[in-house]
Amino acid sequence: MKRWNGWGDDQTIYPLPDLSKNYLVNLLGEADTPPDASLDEVIKSVPESRLTPFSTISADPEQRLRHACGQSLPDWINLRSGRIPTFPDGVIFPTSDEQIEEAFEIASSHQMILIPYGGGTSVVRHVNPPQCDTPVLTIDLSNPNQMVDFDETSLLATFEAGIKGPHLEKKLNKLGYTLGHFPQSFEFSTLGGWVATRSSGQQSYYYGRIEDLFRGGYFITQQGAIDFPSFPASAAGPDLRHLVLGSEGRFGILSRATVAIKHIPKFEEFYGYIFKEWETGMQAVRDLAQKDIQLSMIRLSDAQETETTLLLTGRRNLIHWAGFGLDKLGYKKKRCLLIIGVTGDRDRTIRSQKAAFQICRKNGGLYTGKFVGRTWKKSRFLVPYLRNSLWESGYALDTLETAVPWSKVQLVKDKTIEAIASVSQNQNERVLVFGHLSHVYPTGASIYITYIFRRSYDPDENIERWHEMKSAASKAIINHGGTISHQHGVGRDHARYLENEKGTIGINLLSKIGQFFDPDNLLNRGVMIEEKSVK
Ligand SMILES: Cc1cc2nc3c(=O)[nH]c(=O)nc-3n(C[C@H](O)[C@H](O)[C@H](O)COP(=O)(O)OP(=O)(O)OC[C@H]3O[C@@H](n4cnc5c(N)ncnc54)[C@H](O)[C@@H]3O)c2cc1C
Repeated sequence: MKRWNGWGDDQTIYPLPDLSKNYLVNLLGEADTPPDASLDEVIKSVPESRLTPFSTISADPEQRLRHACGQSLPDWINLRSGRIPTFPDGVIFPTSDEQIEEAFEIASSHQMILIPYGGGTSVVRHVNPPQCDTPVLTIDLSNPNQMVDFDETSLLATFEAGIKGPHLEKKLNKLGYTLGHFPQSFEFSTLGGWVATRSSGQQSYYYGRIEDLFRGGYFITQQGAIDFPSFPASAAGPDLRHLVLGSEGRFGILSRATVAIKHIPKFEEFYGYIFKEWETGMQAVRDLAQKDIQLSMIRLSDAQETETTLLLTGRRNLIHWAGFGLDKLGYKKKRCLLIIGVTGDRDRTIRSQKAAFQICRKNGGLYTGKFVGRTWKKSRFLVPYLRNSLWESGYALDTLETAVPWSKVQLVKDKTIEAIASVSQNQNERVLVFGHLSHVYPTGASIYITYIFRRSYDPDENIERWHEMKSAASKAIINHGGTISHQHGVGRDHARYLENEKGTIGINLLSKIGQFFDPDNLLNRGVMIEEKSVK
């Protein structure tokens, strides 16, 4: 069963190795581990629903609790301490387009805020009810989740939008195909959520981001439904599908999505390279992207992330001998790990692999074989489970990300890390902060930052620590020319920064589109487009 106050399935555990725990204790200090609130306690704290009872709406406190939060760090702090600020007043589980339309009608005639909820894996507060007097109805879209059309000739498949990653891949794999969209939240996030947040999978370098994969669909709004055809290309005016991509539940509900699929690749492999320092690694990565080498993944970790990744294996001998050997070869403390993946048919991948190796060698990279890459692949969806064990050991982890042109990558990465470290210093605490380039493009890269700090006994203090670090990092990103999000979206947490990149006219345009689709302003109010009156 899905954990109610943490990540993932409650049967899956990714323990924090002793070695890593000792490392954190040395670096960040011994941490408090106050007990978490129990499910029963928190259920008891769910307030009375403000909705008039409806047979189709569940006002069950446990359902309301399970739909009250996403997966952001403040969500975790609130869930674990049992102090959840807002709950939906009810949850509705439609199983058809008609029932989605009915939910719109109920919300409109009773003036309820309606929050579309896919897998609830948002990390920027997309699905949390706002603090306001209007009752909130969450619409759980995970039920319609079947494949409804398969056009093998055109390499297109249509799914109901509530389908989750593993289910979708299983359906396609059986037929010899794949979507290839693998966000780290793959296990629990939904196709509708991916489209609504402009999500990016770990191998989007080969398969494309969700905006490349999304080809059409059925979008239900207060004004009626739009059926977007799956033209391969069109010059017939602006592409309205872009009103759905990144719409974050503000304009309507995507009930079905048609996506471009690929044959299951015949060959896939991941390789590791070590560079003497970040700068040469980054040069290699830029060359790989700009020379159009056809890889499926490029991920360059900085020195701190490289060391932490090795420590997290918990394998004392491996860490000792790898460190010893690399030191001897001149790859010392500043060494950085690059993982590259090749995916596709044999000939193409062999050509790409050879070209990529040549570029890595030219930039001083040391080939480390397939072990690191294979380990990465094996644990790619397990790593988020570490958040649970870190929390239980007294440490909180958060991540943030941006994308910038190559000319700014170094500056934005440095400034963001500096901002987090400096706030932590002002808090008289220490923080472990590191980063990697997670997705690269010929013109730039996304920077993904992870920071870990010890938590205090006081949940308010934890929220405050997080808030100060997150705000400082977000300001550093936007002040130095980064987008507020490469893949996590805007939600409530980033809404205040959106005007910076869309401009006043852009924000007004988005608001007008919202007013057109949702004249009563009921859909996910306050998400993406900030509402000064609604927190
Ligand atoms: C551990 C972890 C790892 C992650 N890794 C990645 C990653 O690698 N790449 C990445 O892109 N993101 C990642 N994310 C962020 C998150 O998983 C994505 O934003 C994902 O796309 C959200 O999908 P969801 O189904 O969970 O949507 P939800 O969280 O339920 O909702 C997100 C937003 O989409 C709207 N929405 C959902 N379904 C629909 C629909 N059918 N119609 C209209 N609106 C809808 C909601 O109203 C909300 O505003 C990660 C999150 C976690 C917790």
